[in-house]
Amino acid sequence: MDDLTNLTVCETVEAVKRGEFSCRELVEAYLDRIDRLETQLNAFISLMPELALAQADKIDRTLWSRRKSGDPLALPLAGLPIAVKDVLCVENMRCTCGSRMLENYVPPFNATCVQRLLEAGVVILGKTNTDEFAMGSSTENSAFGVTHNPWNLERVPGGSSGGSAAAVAAHMVTAALGTDTGGSIRQPASFCGITGIKPTYGRISRYGLVAYGSSLDTPGVLGHTAADVCALFGLMAGYDPLDSTSSQRAVPKIHLDDQAELPHLRIGVPKEYFGAGIQPEVERGVHQAIETFESLGAEIITVSLPHTEYALPVYYLIAPAEASANLARYDGIRYGSRVADNDIGEIFRRTRGEKLGAEVKRRIMLGTYALSAGYYEAYYGQAQRVRTLIKRDFDQAFEQADMIAAPVSPTTAFPIGVHTDDPLAMYLEDIFTLPANLAGVPALAFPVGFDADRLPIGMQLIGPHFTEEMLFSATHAYQQVTDWHMINLSE
Ligand code: GLN
Repeated sequence: MDDLTNLTVCETVEAVKRGEFSCRELVEAYLDRIDRLETQLNAFISLMPELALAQADKIDRTLWSRRKSGDPLALPLAGLPIAVKDVLCVENMRCTCGSRMLENYVPPFNATCVQRLLEAGVVILGKTNTDEFAMGSSTENSAFGVTHNPWNLERVPGGSSGGSAAAVAAHMVTAALGTDTGGSIRQPASFCGITGIKPTYGRISRYGLVAYGSSLDTPGVLGHTAADVCALFGLMAGYDPLDSTSSQRAVPKIHLDDQAELPHLRIGVPKEYFGAGIQPEVERGVHQAIETFESLGAEIITVSLPHTEYALPVYYLIAPAEASANLARYDGIRYGSRVADNDIGEIFRRTRGEKLGAEVKRRIMLGTYALSAGYYEAYYGQAQRVRTLIKRDFDQAFEQADMIAAPVSPTTAFPIGVHTDDPLAMYLEDIFTLPANLAGVPALAFPVGFDADRLPIGMQLIGPHFTEEMLFSATHAYQQVTDWHMINLSE
């Protein structure tokens, strides 16, 4: 039998349904591959092989009894091996958030998006590495060591969902869950040559996602193809009474047409996303992909998002402000690890001092300052107003274009260590991903080529609120006529 770890999500679930192999065989194939690669990559914080095999056996038994009784199969993703970013709660698996603060936290419940996938039959192999509390763009800010990019071990995988991206790219799982507050699904997908969706804010429940920037956070999926990512997304999306910000809008059943044609589609190319500061190969790769969309029938027009340059300062006020409030609970008393001391003040001081990493402390201080009396209006209030202007830019662009095409990151994966002493240089990596979070709109990242060092180049399609179906359809059409998403590391 061919290597099971090379199958797409869609191929895997079809083969399991036909009984070509058992879930146990499938999970064992992936665990073998993890065994071989994990020491080099460090994609996981926790691996759960026994739990995964027990879950696989349980699904095998269900499948067997269903087949015997002739019942239709109710498990759309039966046996599918996936991984979950370690900021999303999975019952009985520790959830560290990449932090010493939560290194012993074992949640007694599942995040809603995890629960929905488990009900669909997935098998979770483990929890993946992340920048501490999802704050970062390289997975170097994890208390559990850096994850290496499978395309080049000296490079970062991107972040903060770098463990999930590396695990998918290296075929250690079929797909993985991530979260995106300012680019943390799209940028690692782009650095690792895979596909990743940041859904509309509120499309997928945040219940069970450890909060970073609550008005920006959204769970999402990383996988090899748009069809794979869509298969998981469709099951995770939809209203959840446990998250009051989740949308009540019905989730359409998405059907992806294999006819690779895109007539009547207007794709806007924002002039602010190209030019100075962008690696020429990235710019070229994205333009070539846009030409492919044109050859499929799309009309390409130039649009403007005039407030793009403010997205970075606005994000780096709003996200730290929300983080400083969200992370106040980790004080050693209410939540998190505790450093023993006789003095209550010292417990707070030492717990937060010793258990939180440098970048998290920097964000808490920035956020506390921005929210402090006397500065609140000048920083936080002003940032909120400019956020509205950024959202309006998108509203206006979407009057002319159905969707927007842009690079994901100005560069391909950078070498480990180059930005660690320069937070501003690290923040600049997010320049093209932040606006979609500030506006709350969906964006889908996918691979469109390689640079001269054979590092993947990614681009993103950004649509109006709740247009994930259109983004998946356009990307699926692109992936019918190109094979960047199917090029394996060994080839
Ligand atoms: N790199 C951005 C940050 O550090 C985005 C992170 C994310 O999306 N979680 O805030």
